[in-house]
Amino acid sequence: MTGGPRRRGARWPALDLPRPMLLVLLTVELLTAGLVVGGLAALPADRSTGLAALGALGLIALGVVHTELATGIERVRRRVAHASYFDLSSVWTFAGALLLPPGLAGVVVIGIYGHLWWRVWRPAGAGLYRHVYTTATVALAAIAASTLIAPHGLEVVAGSGDVLPAVGLLLLAMAVYVVVNQLLVALALALTTGRRFALRGVLGEWDDHILEGATLCLAVLAALAALRQPLLMLLVLPPLLVLHRAVLIRQLEERANTDAKTGLLTASAWRGRAHRALARGRRRRDAVAVLILDLDHFKSVNDGYGHLAGDEVLTAVARTLTSQVREVDPVGRFGGEEFVVLLAGLPRGAEGRTLAHAAAERIRRAVRGLTVDVDLPGGPLTITDLSVSVGVAITGEDGESLEELMQVADYALYAAKRAGRNRVRLGRAAAEPGSDG
Ligand code: GH3
Ligand code: MG
Ligand code: MG
Repeated sequence: MTGGPRRRGARWPALDLPRPMLLVLLTVELLTAGLVVGGLAALPADRSTGLAALGALGLIALGVVHTELATGIERVRRRVAHASYFDLSSVWTFAGALLLPPGLAGVVVIGIYGHLWWRVWRPAGAGLYRHVYTTATVALAAIAASTLIAPHGLEVVAGSGDVLPAVGLLLLAMAVYVVVNQLLVALALALTTGRRFALRGVLGEWDDHILEGATLCLAVLAALAALRQPLLMLLVLPPLLVLHRAVLIRQLEERANTDAKTGLLTASAWRGRAHRALARGRRRRDAVAVLILDLDHFKSVNDGYGHLAGDEVLTAVARTLTSQVREVDPVGRFGGEEFVVLLAGLPRGAEGRTLAHAAAERIRRAVRGLTVDVDLPGGPLTITDLSVSVGVAITGEDGESLEELMQVADYALYAAKRAGRNRVRLGRAAAEPGSDG
């Protein structure tokens, strides 16, 4: 590759995106811009438009106040740098979708997200093109929901004597808002990461949905209050603050489940995931394999190159393990230089055994081929010749409970160590005396 495009790409990372993603990005953004401009141009030049414009400004102002005061910018900035930042600005953008005509609903989103970019994402070093895309997806969602409500008017919907159609329409607007947004985000994820456009990606995490649902409920209440008296919208701020604590708890939970050094699951989080996978396996009548891995002579890495180099090796091994299994197979750090992997959804019997063995062999080979570059005070250095011993146990002949499987895998691991390290040993037979070969 020549230097030209790479330099350009460094300043405009969007240019490094895969072609289809670039196409989707441009389409969604141009569509949004067109709908907003077209929507604004279609507004009649009368008092109602003036009031709606004032309402849009009010919502943007509330969104700005929310971001500035409620979350504490410095705290948010640090969290953004760390992991995902879940912003609750849907309260204002969805309220805008319910109260305002489509063009102005789009303006509210652009106003609030513009401010979010300026105060939260830009200082955290986030990519502009991503934020512009996010803004466009939210604006499209708001425009879609507004298009649904606007012909009737929220006033009419809320004041209608027919409760069922009124509530139904509000729920439908919520669903449209969520689905449009989720679909576009999942599409972007699929196109940039090269992963399949999976339903799981569209559906996301349950916790996220509960949070998003609560935010949208607040938005409905805020919009209904605004019909009576716009100042009443301020009452939404305190419950919104409490909702932010829920976000914080979620993030703390995530951090508590993650091993800081390797980014893998902690031992206890892994156990939780493993128990669930076993229960699922029982329901579906398929097999589950447990792998326990221990780096060979890891002490000599520490002794030879220092503990920091040792840490780099642990991180590299963790990355290798994750890359060698599917996303549904939890990988954890058991402790020190020991790791655990669970392989879910294997066929029962000999076929499952063969697959588990092959996966363990693949991991062993990958660790064997690993080269880890470390920067030491004495200069850069490449660590090679790493190896791992692996013990494997599989449901069926090795046991049914996690405890039994761990026990057998652990025995098998020691059999692998005794047999000379850098090898895989499988199941009960491996653990029996005389099987070391
Ligand atoms: P074996 O092949 O028998 O497993 O030999 P080993 O040297 O790997 O086993 P041993 O249990 O004697 O040593 C494990 C070492 O792992 C000792 C400990 O200092 C090191 N270790 C454990 N946790 C960490 C860590 O977080 N970072 C670093 N750098 N080293 C660690
Ligand atoms: Mg060990
Ligand atoms: Mg070891």
